[in-house]
Amino acid sequence: MSQYKLLTPGPLTTTETVKAQMLEDRCTWDDDYKSLTQSIRQKLLTIGMTDSSKYTTVLQQGSGSFVVESVLQTALSDDDHILIISNGAYGERMVKMAQVMKKNVTPVYLAYNEIPNINELKEIIDSDTSITHIAFVHCETTTGILNPIEEICEMATQNNLKVILDAMSSFGGVPINIQALDIDYLISSANKCIQGVPGFGFVIAKRTSLELCEGNASSVSLDLYDQWKNMDIDGKWRFTSPTHVVGAFRQAISELEEEGGVEQRYQRYQSNNTYIINEMKKIGFEPYVKSTVQSPIITTFLYPNESFEFKAFYEYMKQRDFVLYPGKLMDTPSFRIGNIGDLHRSDFELLIKVIKEYQVKEGE
Ligand SMILES: *Cc1c(COP(=O)(O)O)cnc(C)c1O
Repeated sequence: MSQYKLLTPGPLTTTETVKAQMLEDRCTWDDDYKSLTQSIRQKLLTIGMTDSSKYTTVLQQGSGSFVVESVLQTALSDDDHILIISNGAYGERMVKMAQVMKKNVTPVYLAYNEIPNINELKEIIDSDTSITHIAFVHCETTTGILNPIEEICEMATQNNLKVILDAMSSFGGVPINIQALDIDYLISSANKCIQGVPGFGFVIAKRTSLELCEGNASSVSLDLYDQWKNMDIDGKWRFTSPTHVVGAFRQAISELEEEGGVEQRYQRYQSNNTYIINEMKKIGFEPYVKSTVQSPIITTFLYPNESFEFKAFYEYMKQRDFVLYPGKLMDTPSFRIGNIGDLHRSDFELLIKVIKEYQVKEGE
């Protein structure tokens, strides 16, 4: 088996102990499994700095996008109108989903290296009183830009808008106080900063908001309200649940706790991200977004010169067990280095050493 270090933002490098949990076959209707589901739902509330008095967790089969789609399906009624901020591919995907579902949507498109201007958002909201919801991505994994969660949430609260946050690539790795930010729906998945394997995602939802959503969805499997009402009875999922993935996820949560919780994990990510950026700059690679808006999760680097060949670089790195992530910018040649997962300083020291060796080889 390969021992690749995945420098990608999920699926990512997981521990042996997380993977080992998948060797056990579990029964979906058995009480042990149902209580496993319930304990995960509870622990996710704690990770989000809230509790079950105001919030609830709904687990949903599929990749992260399935969960985003289930929230948009369920949270928005025919009378609602959502403003979606897009400064990357994941914001764009939300717009596309809302349009395909024929929801009433106003997209706000920004450059990929730009964060939203709060005054400009306010103007749009003030000029259209039909807007009821706002959706945005916390860490836009497309570039690694971190959107200003406090400012946007505060503005939303002041304007009585419900907030849908795609915190897919930040939840568990960047502290988010769901209750203080008054978020209505926070979305994330098993295979990002909690460091589990792919197969399901979850929504931490404000009870009073989700309670109003019965009958909104025009899909059965993506009806978050129905999923919630069923799961809330005793922890039984509607339809087949990804039992091996759920077992691994419970272990991943324990390992997050052992590391010292979200704050400690954030420190590790932040310090490794800073290390990578500093070392890469020294050898000619410039990051795409400004340091003031750079997330601690993933960094986009521009090609260092005209003759740089990513394919050759990628293959060289892969042969040495490092899997890089191609760029996703339309107009600027780039690649990405993710630093989440079970990766530590020594891995990144080795990474930089290998990149330097590649440069020496290419220079010959
Ligand atoms: C990973 C991710 C998603 C979901 O992507 P899937 O491929 O469906 O898992 C959504 N938004 C962001 C910001 C992400 O990083």
